[in-house]
Amino acid sequence: MALIVQKYGGTSVGTVDRIQAVAQRVKATVEAGNSVVVVVSAMGKTTDSLVKLANDITDQPSRREMDMLLSTGEQVSIALLSMALHSLGQDAISLTGAQVGIVTEAEHTRARILTINPERMQRHLAEGKVIVVAGFQGISQTTDLEITTLGRGGSDTSAVALAAALQADKCEIYTDVPGILTTDPRLVPEAQLMEEITSDEMLELASLGAKVLHPRAVEIARNYGVTLVVRSSWTDEPGTRVISPQPQPRPLEGLELANPVDAVEFDTDQAKVALLRIPDRPGIAARLFGELANQDLNVDLIIQSIHEGNTNDIAFTLVRSNLNRAEAVAEAIAPALRSNPTDTTQAEVMVDTNMAKISIAGAGMIGRPGVAAMMFLTLAEAGINIQLISTSEVKVSCTIDAKDCDRAIAALCQAFEVTSSPRPQSASENTSLASTQTTPVVRGAALDTKQAQVAIRHVPDQPGMAAKIFQLLANNGVSVDMIIQSQRCRLVNGHPTRDIAFTVAQADARLARELMEQAAQELGFGEVVVNEAIAKVSVVGIGMIYAPGVAARMFKALSEQGINLQMIATSEIKISCVVDESEGVKALQAIHSVFGLAGTKAVVVPA
Ligand code: ADP
Ligand code: ASP
Ligand code: MG
Repeated sequence: MALIVQKYGGTSVGTVDRIQAVAQRVKATVEAGNSVVVVVSAMGKTTDSLVKLANDITDQPSRREMDMLLSTGEQVSIALLSMALHSLGQDAISLTGAQVGIVTEAEHTRARILTINPERMQRHLAEGKVIVVAGFQGISQTTDLEITTLGRGGSDTSAVALAAALQADKCEIYTDVPGILTTDPRLVPEAQLMEEITSDEMLELASLGAKVLHPRAVEIARNYGVTLVVRSSWTDEPGTRVISPQPQPRPLEGLELANPVDAVEFDTDQAKVALLRIPDRPGIAARLFGELANQDLNVDLIIQSIHEGNTNDIAFTLVRSNLNRAEAVAEAIAPALRSNPTDTTQAEVMVDTNMAKISIAGAGMIGRPGVAAMMFLTLAEAGINIQLISTSEVKVSCTIDAKDCDRAIAALCQAFEVTSSPRPQSASENTSLASTQTTPVVRGAALDTKQAQVAIRHVPDQPGMAAKIFQLLANNGVSVDMIIQSQRCRLVNGHPTRDIAFTVAQADARLARELMEQAAQELGFGEVVVNEAIAKVSVVGIGMIYAPGVAARMFKALSEQGINLQMIATSEIKISCVVDESEGVKALQAIHSVFGLAGTKAVVVPA
């Protein structure tokens, strides 16, 4: 007899009819010989309506009262589903997060799960009952037993956490699409279903805007080796498997608070090429990386920060043995970038062979603003200056002087209590997780339109500045997403400075600006520029680690649509570009099509 955790999202329990259909499926699963724990979301758009009610009263509701309010939505659906099961003759009991023992930290509206006490659930399962659990909520450990919620979309996380705690055989996420698709079918109807995806890829996609799975649910599945599938509520199709490597055994204590960083990675075999003062217009990145790809030169990090006047800088790193050829490509292109006679820009190529790339990696850093800050602080305390910074949701990479590498590794390993590994997992190790022979270079694409960009001009180029900035944001609960530190060093009053740009949730943009403006004088930096009208488009795929030309194809597709790239950041398995908000959907459609992700059959999404 297997133990299965099933989770049904809002649309799947949106009406009484649908709740009855869910009850039928649950009963059928029991009749097939399984024990079942069901996690449900609030009906339809209930949570959104509750948020609106609160906002009609105040634009700054207390986070505690928000939890009190939003947690009611799920309580309605568990009672109704339980009744629907009873009327089918199936024994069932509904329980809130607190009643099933989901203990969280006391961080209202974004609590992480500390532990789960499975005893009561085990007792009811032994009695032959189906347990219907309210998703998205828990109870704080404090003496006051506060109701908490896990953050929007958090029912997925409740389900996977329960599956981990009960050592369930499987966790099935039932939703309104056939499974995980190459992108959001509401934006690109030709999106195709995937049979499987690795948890590393899904983590990136989920954090980059693919809302089909809550990123923290993927993190838990990966950490605890939970067998996870995403399927349609309306059909019996198998859906998509999310594949995780065999995990190290770990306790349930600190379920979501375990060490946020899994490894410190370094690469001392890289060199950097930077093109300074290239024109800020569509097609430039496409041309540069297109030419590098033609020469079969595989680039690793690509960083383009915000523009300065009408020019930009792009920097990239690659294996040192390819440096001469890459430099030749850059030198050959640079003069041509001065395409019209009135163009006053003067592109310049710089190379650096005395560098090392050092990264911290781990899914636990998602939504934890202090982790990047801690890395920068650790490096600052060791007196190490950071050159480039590029982040993904699960990794922060910095380039530093090669002579500092050993000290940086030692300091970071100590700070994060992990061991170091020279390189990220190789593509072959990663792809061996997927059973398909031909792992696609790009697995999926995502769009995030809920971010704002913050740029700080002329930050003094000295150890400790990034640490101060991101610590200040972290202390105020602002999660930073993509961080980019530019290549260009400019002298201001005789001192070298660099620009730092990052993205934050739009809801945090005002606070981020205020914090930065308040700190500007003390920390000695220039203007703070905020742009809310941005969109981030990304592609993700493990296959891109060793496939040259992926960035070039992405940039070319965007330039063919006349879309200008405002920022670029890459990690081993993803490339993200910030574009104007009004061009976000067009950009997503263009990159989805250029990587051949489109299918012939449009996915129909229920209203
Ligand atoms: P639920 O209420 O079941 O949790 P969500 O609305 O949270 O459902 O997530 C499902 C939605 O995620 C889909 O309807 C789809 O619009 C969106 N989505 C975004 N990206 C993807 C993707 N890559 N694959 C599938 N769905 C996606
Ligand atoms: N009802 C919550 C929300 O809408 C949690 C969830 O559905 O996952 O965010
Ligand atoms: Mg959801």
